[in-house]
Amino acid sequence: MSAIDRGKRFSIPAKDLLRYIPLWECHIHTHYADGTSTIRQVVDWAIEFGLTRIIFTEHTEPWHTSWEDWFSKYVADILLARKEYGDQLEILIGIEAPATDFEHGLGITPEMMKIVDFILGTAHRYPHLKGRSVKDLKRDEIIDYEYRTLMALAANPHIDAIAHIGGTCKRYCCPFPEELTRQVIRTATLHGIAIEINHQYHTPLYGFVNLCIEEDAIVTLGSDAHRVEEVGSVVSALREISLRN
Ligand SMILES: [Zn+2]
Ligand SMILES: [Zn+2]
Repeated sequence: MSAIDRGKRFSIPAKDLLRYIPLWECHIHTHYADGTSTIRQVVDWAIEFGLTRIIFTEHTEPWHTSWEDWFSKYVADILLARKEYGDQLEILIGIEAPATDFEHGLGITPEMMKIVDFILGTAHRYPHLKGRSVKDLKRDEIIDYEYRTLMALAANPHIDAIAHIGGTCKRYCCPFPEELTRQVIRTATLHGIAIEINHQYHTPLYGFVNLCIEEDAIVTLGSDAHRVEEVGSVVSALREISLRN
């Protein structure tokens, strides 16, 4: 499958959001890493909420999931849920994989690459920090690292979507500049990679959505849910804003 086809599988054109909001949640963490819910609790909540698609996107960094064999148990758990509830909503296996260099490196094993339906590429701890942490960096350095990490993801043929653009920069330092955000969106769009719309990081939300519409991007909806009540909250946030052409 080509990279273009990969990205399109679980996304819609951003401009379609002017007509409808898909009932999706494409960014969920569970007790397998730093979330608090079980797979089953998330599925029950999603059905109650009325979602039609959920994608579990567990962290792959070893400091989140240090216990042995977590990935096969995670997959088995999701497959069991799919067997029991697959007639009520689409349940997909994904992971949130960090960029590990400024090319196409990802924190993902070959087994994961083979099994998962969806890979959410992410800029968490930036590559090549040489022992420093994000907190040690100056403002301009953080922006530069975030930009280079995201631009690498925007051309990475292994991923389906990019998580929370500018999220690490915003969390540790300052809002990520709009012009650079636009460049990342434009490059990802050229490569058929979807952009995650995430209300927890993209504020104001309408500004980010409009940027995606202007760049004719394809998008997924993700809350980065770590608690069951957060699953689907991106849908609620989108319902509250009025999008304009
Ligand atoms: Zn993340
Ligand atoms: Zn996440």
